[in-house]
Amino acid sequence: MANKKYDLVIVGAGYAGLMAAKTAGENGIKVALLEMKHNITRLRRSDGQTLIPGNEEYLGEWMVFNPKNHLVRFLNSGLSFRYEGPYRNIYAVHLYSFGGQDIKFGDAGEGKRKKLLPVSIATEKELILKSLLDQAVANGVEVFPGTRVTDVKKTADGVKIISDRNSFEGTFAIGADGTNSRVAQRLGFNKERKYYSTMNTVGYLMKGLKVPDPDTTFLVIGRFRDKPVLIGIVPRPAEDIHIVIFISLDVRLDFVAYHDFVIKESELSHWFKGCPEEIVSSSANNMWSTIVEPFKDNVLLVGDAIWTQESENTGALLSGGKAANAVTYALLQGKPNRDGISSYLDWWKKTFVEAHPRDMIMDDYVLGVILDNDQINYLFSLLNVVMPPSMLPYTLARYIGEAIGEVVPILQKEKPEILVALGRMQQETPDQILAKQVEAGVPNR
Ligand SMILES: Cc1cc2nc3c(=O)[nH]c(=O)nc-3n(C[C@H](O)[C@H](O)[C@H](O)COP(=O)(O)OP(=O)(O)OC[C@H]3O[C@@H](n4cnc5c(N)ncnc54)[C@H](O)[C@@H]3O)c2cc1C
Repeated sequence: MANKKYDLVIVGAGYAGLMAAKTAGENGIKVALLEMKHNITRLRRSDGQTLIPGNEEYLGEWMVFNPKNHLVRFLNSGLSFRYEGPYRNIYAVHLYSFGGQDIKFGDAGEGKRKKLLPVSIATEKELILKSLLDQAVANGVEVFPGTRVTDVKKTADGVKIISDRNSFEGTFAIGADGTNSRVAQRLGFNKERKYYSTMNTVGYLMKGLKVPDPDTTFLVIGRFRDKPVLIGIVPRPAEDIHIVIFISLDVRLDFVAYHDFVIKESELSHWFKGCPEEIVSSSANNMWSTIVEPFKDNVLLVGDAIWTQESENTGALLSGGKAANAVTYALLQGKPNRDGISSYLDWWKKTFVEAHPRDMIMDDYVLGVILDNDQINYLFSLLNVVMPPSMLPYTLARYIGEAIGEVVPILQKEKPEILVALGRMQQETPDQILAKQVEAGVPNR
């Protein structure tokens, strides 16, 4: 079959790829969207399904959700999409140790009473995927579900994307294929990146959890059998239902034993007593250092494919939309090259790379490696004050760093070994701290 030539071929139809497709379609360019799932709007990978942040700037943008006209809009760029599903405002995040001590970022009762901006909005992600897909199709995007991309080749006037079914030629391509990006791998990016281990997750829907606060996201951090673990407990839009995501940074973890420890033996087990549960999602995500220049051979990379661990849903949406606008501009200007799409690279460098000089998100994950459960419990007991509300991992890491600064004299006196361990976060890179997990992991280099 003769290859048809597109202005833009997009690989991956998550938030980043769909937002890129919708935006490029609206701009009037000729787009093909390739996705390996047969049903694009079915969500199988673990996700808290929130839109964050609701109350602070991220990537040079403020996100606004207007439930009256069902529009989510980013103020600076004007990028937007419709969301007509149920939603729920989340006002606080509480970070717990397995021993039951917590650090609070905001207070949900106060947030509701004072009508503060929510830290995030719980949504039905499948409905947003559908909304974006419908808008892309309505704007002429050709969609190819069940198409698994295997390779990327530079051509004389653009790029060829090769799949298990067919090949697709474009002047540009966008790689939006997530944390284990095949596109990034084939372009050679992963040879240069630091590999920070593979994060495995299993997500459950649970009803009637006895967590201490409503409208709050709970994160639990610690160790299980010497392996670093986390739990994310996020309210769903429907009352009384949470998604509970068990997370491990070590591929050797026994998830069944871990789940049973949490709900039957840990100090938090009373939260889970008698709650019906259903496994709904899972994922295996490779964690790499950030890609500083996400462009090669006329391919722009967006979303989780370029971030360390995760872009957040908003980062995926924004980078997809910004990349699509940059490609449109390059085509209109007759500059099918790096110069044409430089607005995307400049935005990425300024709002993410320079604003987050090291891969800070890993600070939230390595605590369970450098400290044991008792040490985390003790540290959190010292930090038991209500900090400002936030759900952005970079802000949480900053607030915790500042709060630890305040208790250094106490730590020096009572538990100097904790200070020494925390110092590793400054002196070592995440792959050094996670050396055992890196050795056991499965990088797609
Ligand atoms: C446990 C967990 C919880 C999270 N919770 C939240 C949250 O509450 N709020 C938040 O903002 N963020 C959350 N995130 C992060 C968020 O899910 C991601 O940042 C976001 O989904 C990234 O979108 P993306 O489009 O870049 O990638 P993805 O959503 O992963 O989409 C990539 C798409 O590419 C497709 N694909 C992959 N390889 C190929 C191939 N070779 N060929 C064709 N198609 C391919 C995949 O099937 C997929 O559809 C969470 C992440 C995890 C791991």
